[in-house]
This record gives sequence, structure tokens and C-alpha cells, in this order.
Amino acid sequence: MAKICSEKKCTVFISDTHFSDDYPEIAQRFIDFLKLNMSCIETLYLLGDLFDAWIGDDNMTALSEKISETLAQCADAGMKIFFLHGNRDYLIGQKFANACNMTLLNDKTVISLYGKKTLLMHGDLLCTDDHAYQRYRKIMFSSFMKKISLMLPLNLRKRVAKKLRKASQDSNATKQITIMDVSEISVIQALEDNHAELLIHGHTHREGIHTLELTHQSAQRMVLGAWDNSQGNAIIANEIDAPHFIRI
Ligand code: MN
Repeated sequence: MAKICSEKKCTVFISDTHFSDDYPEIAQRFIDFLKLNMSCIETLYLLGDLFDAWIGDDNMTALSEKISETLAQCADAGMKIFFLHGNRDYLIGQKFANACNMTLLNDKTVISLYGKKTLLMHGDLLCTDDHAYQRYRKIMFSSFMKKISLMLPLNLRKRVAKKLRKASQDSNATKQITIMDVSEISVIQALEDNHAELLIHGHTHREGIHTLELTHQSAQRMVLGAWDNSQGNAIIANEIDAPHFIRI
């Protein structure tokens, strides 16, 4: 693994690492990357689905402990860490955020990335052609349902999560590929509404850069890919270099 550090401090975006006990190499690569570059990453944005599943901050495992310890170490070293929920880890709460020393962000957060107005999202909100998913999301991700979900005993939550995961896999298997991608209309709307010239998101695992023509300007959409056993990816930017992809 190569060091990304140069003289310049940088900002890094990562999403869809999908940490789980099934693929310990992925979490290890993330940890190695952060430790190697601790001194030069000024700000780290985690854009959701960091974990493959999250059923509550009370269900800490060796894996989630390891991740929170690493992030807290980075924060101690001066790194600012922000986390935006994905659809897999939307139940991450303030307790885990505190353990990681990271700040929770709302989906659709606008930042200034070295002067470039940038909209950050997980990405699932943009998949508006998938009506069934959007209906499910509206109910399950509401603060009311989150509260109810977290009140269930841990063992029951584990069983329910397994069933929901299976149902989602079955349903996705029958969906058209295009339905599960973002809707271009929703992308343009989100950029226009937030007066942003760059959108960074994950979720679809379709890594790439897209140029869009808005009413008053052109804009870019950068999509982070998912991590697997052999490789991860991130977007990096600093004062001089425009946001670009790197392999991890
Ligand atoms: Mn996702």
C-alpha cells in the first residue's frame, strides 16, 4: 500500500466498505490505509455502508471495536471525521459516533471542498426509479421506526436483520439493473436545489465520473465504488489537485 501523503494536507472520501466478519481483509486494509496516512488526511468523510450490517450501538463486536479504536486514534491525531449513514448502517447512533470521535452528518450535506460547493449523499435517495425501495426506506428509516427497531431485544434484531437482508437480496435479484441506479432527474434536482457543482456519493457501487449540464452551470457526479477483498477506492482532494480517485 502506497502512502498518499505529500506536503499538502488532504480530504478523503470513502464509502461502501461493507465491513463484516466474513471479509476481515477489507477492514484491515481500511485500518492500514488510515494508519499510514494519519498525518496527512485533514478531513475524512465516510459516506455510508461502512458496515455491511448494523443493528444497534449496543451490539459491539471485535470488528466494530477495532474500527472505532482506529478512527478515535486518527481523531486524536487531529483528523476531522464525518459519517453519513448508508442503508446498511442507518442504525449507527451517537454512542458509536462518540466512540469513533466522528460527527454524524445528514444525508444531503453541502460542504465547501477547497472552494468547490460539494453535495454529499449516500446515494440511495437518488434511486427514485425504485419505488418499492423508496417506500420501504421512508418507513424503516423514519425516526419513529428506528426507535422501535432499537427497542427490540438484540437477539430478535439479529433475526429480523437476517430476514430483511434475505428479502432485499431476493427482491434485488428480480429488479432491472437500471432501476437500482440513480435517476438522472433526481441527481440534477439535488444539485440544483443545493446550488452544488459537485456531487459525491456511493451506494450503487458504480465507480465513475459523470458530467451534467445544469441550468446555469455544468456539474460533476463522482461515484465511489465498493471495496472488496483485493482492492478499495477513495476520492482524494487537496488545495491544488481536483478531486480524483485513488486505489487502496
Ligand atoms: Mn448503500
